[in-house]
Amino acid sequence: MVRYDYDLITLGAGSGGVRASRLAGRYGAKVAVIESSRVGGTCVMRGCVPKKLLVYGAHFAAHFEDAVGFGWTVDGARHDWGKMIAAKNKELDRLEGAYNRMLRDANVNVVAGRGVIADPHTVEVDGRPMTAEKLLVSVGGWPVIPDFPGREHVITSNEALDLPERPRRIVIVGGGYIAVEFAGIFAALGSEVTLVIRAGQILRGFDEDVRATLSAELEKQGIRIHRDCLIRSVEKTASGYSVYYDQGEEMVVDCVMFATGRAPNTSRIGLAEVGVKLNDKGAVAVDEWNRSSVDNIFAVGDVTDRVNLTPVAINEGRVFAETFFNKNPMTLDYRNIASAVFSQPPVAVVGLTEAQARIGRQVRVFISRFRPMKHTLSGRQESTMMKLIVDKATDRVLGCHMVGDDAAEIIQGLAVALTCGATKAQFDATVGIHPTAAEEFVTMRDPVPDKEPAAADM
Ligand code: NDP
Repeated sequence: MVRYDYDLITLGAGSGGVRASRLAGRYGAKVAVIESSRVGGTCVMRGCVPKKLLVYGAHFAAHFEDAVGFGWTVDGARHDWGKMIAAKNKELDRLEGAYNRMLRDANVNVVAGRGVIADPHTVEVDGRPMTAEKLLVSVGGWPVIPDFPGREHVITSNEALDLPERPRRIVIVGGGYIAVEFAGIFAALGSEVTLVIRAGQILRGFDEDVRATLSAELEKQGIRIHRDCLIRSVEKTASGYSVYYDQGEEMVVDCVMFATGRAPNTSRIGLAEVGVKLNDKGAVAVDEWNRSSVDNIFAVGDVTDRVNLTPVAINEGRVFAETFFNKNPMTLDYRNIASAVFSQPPVAVVGLTEAQARIGRQVRVFISRFRPMKHTLSGRQESTMMKLIVDKATDRVLGCHMVGDDAAEIIQGLAVALTCGATKAQFDATVGIHPTAAEEFVTMRDPVPDKEPAAADM
């Protein structure tokens, strides 16, 4: 029998790789995880965690404004961007330490360096070979910036999280999760924000009512949305950056950020060379067991470009470790994965959009729009939208959508209900908690008149 140095070598210590390695280590496997940057990966070091800390920081602006309506006098509140970034970085250092400790406690050997697959059982780290029975590729993705003149002047979310100063004027290109979240952060802290989207609406793939509600809310806050618009070039000038649009218009700002999607980190790590098939987007093609086209090479997380969310990567790592290191074969159910956009107000959704639900079935749709109770006194002109999509034939709730405060906290619970196959009758039989926004989800009685959704929502 061939003896390898390890049972498992994991490339990439992000959410998926860490979970798989820790579990495999706990189940007695000899594991090494190779990381070229910081342990924790995109979510912990450059994504969800630092972004959410900045979202919290930005929220205080609204809290101070709203407090006035409740009798508070808030004098002299000022924000120090540098202090917030320093505090955030301190927390990331703490988390990196905690991740390293968790791996060590599971007997996982953390190897700093860049791993390149030399053959299906060998990884070279900075030229040093290490062998394993199984390889797990969990190297994530990286922001993509399209080619155009002046591309070198723009930043991505990676740099936005560490800017030395908050830009007074910023253009953010893209209308997805990252663009919308950063637009909210910068606008709340006082920057002039222009969102440039190539389509007619933000958040492609989300329910049309969610897209329309959120874009209206962003515009109410003064975020400008340039629709059907592309950037032709960016030039550095004495006073900032001149942004030229394809329609010929020019705008001068202090920062241009691109949030135009992410691509899997599959180049130059030896994947294609050892026969691992990549799909047309360059992602590792895997089966339901996370197995690539090479029998002993597996992949989880964003590098597979399935559902690019941290909890999905973590669960892919978990089912991989359970299957191959705990004799407990498991696959992940990708239906009813809830997700949130930490915009201001936030969005959270689980299940189908109205357009998806209408394919091949009749539906009943319930929508509630209201002014949150807090804003009756704060005076803030912000509305909440909640939407339920129900299968007419079976009464099953197919989708829950919300734009409004605490949306992510509320939808997480409803995701359990949808996973259990809850019906509208069961929602109706549930007694609400009063006074909350969440109770609206169990008190929606009258469906909206039937209509066909817009084609864009497909
Ligand atoms: P998304 O794929 O969500 O959005 C990309 C945006 O960029 C879209 O609006 C797209 O427009 C636009 N775009 C793409 N190419 C171009 C181009 N060449 N010129 C102009 N616009 C372009 O990517 P993000 O970068 O926002 O996020 C990356 C991933 O990170 C997502 O898959 C998401 O799952 C994950 N993420 C999740 C978060 C969360 O769960 N809260 C937070 C942040 C990220 P169009 O609509 O026309 O295609």
